[in-house]
Order: sequence, then C-alpha cells, then structure tokens
Amino acid sequence: MRILVITGAGVSAESGIPTFRGKDGYWRNFDPAKLATPEAFARDPKLVWEWYRERRQRIRNAEPNAAHTAIAKLAEHAREFLLVTQNVDDLHARAGLPKEKMVQIHGDIFVTKCSRCDWSRRDYDHEHEHEQEDIVSKCARCDALVRPGVVWFGEQLPWSEVKRVEDFLDRGDCDLVIVAGTTATFGYIIDWALRASGDGGELIEVNPEETSLSQFATQLVREPAAIALPRIVDQLIC
Ligand SMILES: [Zn+2]
Repeated sequence: MRILVITGAGVSAESGIPTFRGKDGYWRNFDPAKLATPEAFARDPKLVWEWYRERRQRIRNAEPNAAHTAIAKLAEHAREFLLVTQNVDDLHARAGLPKEKMVQIHGDIFVTKCSRCDWSRRDYDHEHEHEQEDIVSKCARCDALVRPGVVWFGEQLPWSEVKRVEDFLDRGDCDLVIVAGTTATFGYIIDWALRASGDGGELIEVNPEETSLSQFATQLVREPAAIALPRIVDQLIC
C-alpha cells in the first residue's frame, strides 16, 4: 500500500507535550501562539528563547507514545510511505521512523538557525551550555541573533520540505491517508490529504473532535490517537 500519514499536536499531547490551544498551553501567563511569531522574537528574543528552551527540555524528557510506535510500524509494512508532521519534536524519530520517511513541515525545535543568513545547527546535545547563558546567542557567521529552527505563525513553510511532500503526491494517489491529532486548520493540510486520497483512497480521520477535514473523511475515528492508531495499524497489517 501507498500511505500518507499526517499528524498534529494531538499526537504529541498524549506524550505530555502541551498544545498551543487551551489554557494548558499557557506558559507564565503568555499565549504561546503569540510567542511563536517573528514579532515576539523581534520584541523580546530572550523571552522567546526561554520558552523554547523549556519546551526543548520537556520534549527531551517525554517518551513516544503508542501512536508514534504504531505509525513507525505502519511505515515498515507500506510499499511507499510518508509522514507529514506538524510537530517540531523528535518523538516520531525516537519511535523508530526513518528520517527519509518523514517531513517536519513546521521545522525541528532542536535546530538553532540564524535569523538572517542560512547558518544552522542541530542543538540537541549542546543545550546545557546555552541554558546557563542569560543572553541570546549570535550567529557565528554574520552576528545576527540566532533563533529556533521552527516555522512561526505568519511565516512561509520551508520550500525544501514542501517539495518533498509535493514530490510524494506527484508520484501517485495513496491507497490510504490517515490524519491524526490535528484540527487541520491549515488549508495545506486539507489540500494534501485530499490530493493524496485521490478518487478511491481511504481517508481516515483520528480525532476526538469534529474538524474541518471530517466532512471529507471516509472513516471517522473519534478517539485519541494513542488508543485508535495501534488498533487501526494492527488491522491493516495482519
Ligand atoms: Zn547569520
């Protein structure tokens, strides 16, 4: 089978990573949706970095859940497979999903990049030196401030990653599309899901609540991903 899976914050929430929405998402009385913007970084880069460092640490301490494991297992059994995740954490990778089968369309929280030039580095193991610093680091190449390698609200998606999704879609329709743990508020998520499922493909939505994608799904599973996905995957591969 040719399979596309799309995941969002709901999948990571079950590993204890708070979503941006709702009061649980608040950090020191700040709304993360307002911190994750170029404007917030321009106004107070130190504050934005503090939030991202805390979030990195939280992700390091978290473990992949049954949904991540089920998706990695499905990838092993598919003829062709791509995961498009809106999550910037590394839980899909730690569950065993190979990098070449995954697109992190909103970036990677462990990447630190320059806010001006194309310098970047993955900071997973370097965090402790930075955590002690009370200042925001500057680019070694051009001296501009460095920032987290994620896509902020109002920013463009990374072209290279969009191209990987487009290339996968161009190679043919999918037999199965699963969209899990995302409210699908971004138009491109709905667009990719619909294009991938084509004329005859199955489109399964896994989400406790109704979303803007629900009307297009061939199957609705109103359960959390960590409960529903292991069962769905077991049924598919047996
Ligand atoms: Zn630079």
